[in-house]
Amino acid sequence: MSYPALVEPADELSIDEVRRYSRHLIIPDVGMTGQKRLKNAKVLVIGAGGLGSPALLYLAAAGVGTLGIAEFDEVDESNLQRQVIHGVSDIGKAKGLSAKESIAEINPYVNVVLHEERLDNDNVMSVFEGYDLIVDGTDNFATRYMVNDAAYFLGIPYVWGSIYRFDGQASVFAPTLTDDAPCYRCLYPEPPPPGMVPSCAEGGVLGVLCASIGSIQVNEAIKLLTGIGEPLVGKLMIYDALEMEYRKLKVRKDPNCALCGDHPTVTGLIDYDAFCGALSNEAAEAAAGATISVTQLEHMLKEREEGTRDFVLVDVREPNEYEINKIPGSVLIPKGDFLNGSALEKLPADKQIVMHCKSGVRSAETLAIVKGAGYADAVHVGGGVVAWVNQIDPSQPSY
Ligand SMILES: [Zn+2]
Repeated sequence: MSYPALVEPADELSIDEVRRYSRHLIIPDVGMTGQKRLKNAKVLVIGAGGLGSPALLYLAAAGVGTLGIAEFDEVDESNLQRQVIHGVSDIGKAKGLSAKESIAEINPYVNVVLHEERLDNDNVMSVFEGYDLIVDGTDNFATRYMVNDAAYFLGIPYVWGSIYRFDGQASVFAPTLTDDAPCYRCLYPEPPPPGMVPSCAEGGVLGVLCASIGSIQVNEAIKLLTGIGEPLVGKLMIYDALEMEYRKLKVRKDPNCALCGDHPTVTGLIDYDAFCGALSNEAAEAAAGATISVTQLEHMLKEREEGTRDFVLVDVREPNEYEINKIPGSVLIPKGDFLNGSALEKLPADKQIVMHCKSGVRSAETLAIVKGAGYADAVHVGGGVVAWVNQIDPSQPSY
């Protein structure tokens, strides 16, 4: 099913623009009218990261007249493996500005609007307002649900994408476009339990996967803006890069959806951090009063060296993460071994257990398990190896 174009055509294209977009203009489905619609379009891209980078590059090249960029982060060296809108000279620079400069180089006719504050309940509605379409490239569940709800309340369709290792997904959520179109909550009514799904930072992502999914998002955006083809409304695209397989599943509107269903319970923005829970209740409880800083850990390690203190420092990350950086004197026992119980056999019964991971989420989860097994004095390291590298040992690489 096709939908009416989201955007009215601009009055005209300049001679320069006609030359620039000639390969679009000679496609009958796009033509002069389609290109004028793109010129008049206002698209907000959330995140100038893995998905946002290719999305912004192609939206700009395609001639979308106004591109908003919602991004508060800075360019880090570890971004360059996939965030192709940034370069070496951008390291340390605001990602929004870096993206804006790249876009100016590709297409000076694009008006770029930067939104450099972190999106939250206080600003999301005012940032979204006025855009015809949103392209969501966020990597966390709290923001995803917030984007879905805010877009629904404002009646703005959006193109969603997600990536993990070799797997990608994409869909279009436009419940205000037609009566039977689902929203993100129809597809995923509940966020995954905290600690169960690793983030991209934890789980990794094949760089080129961002281009595969980001280009699908741009493809859908162009179709929606110009009213051509069949957009992924009510359909979920699933891509497996290892098998090189695309599958398309039907997604139905859920009459019981908390947002767009018959009897909605979500009628305004909610507390998304609480809804998605950065930590499970058990982990938060275990970590309360049992979290040490990296400075405290450094001191404890010195005492252990001097023989005045004994404890076991357990790194609960994955082996490939341990290869990148580590806290000296730690032993590696991945979180999975705590979940299946095999780790407990490896722990001495008479020593204090100190646990850490990358940032402190996984180690809080395993802390709950270890405390539950009777290690009452077990603690974990707040901020994990990230804090260790930042504050104690900057000679090690971060990731
Ligand atoms: Zn819904």
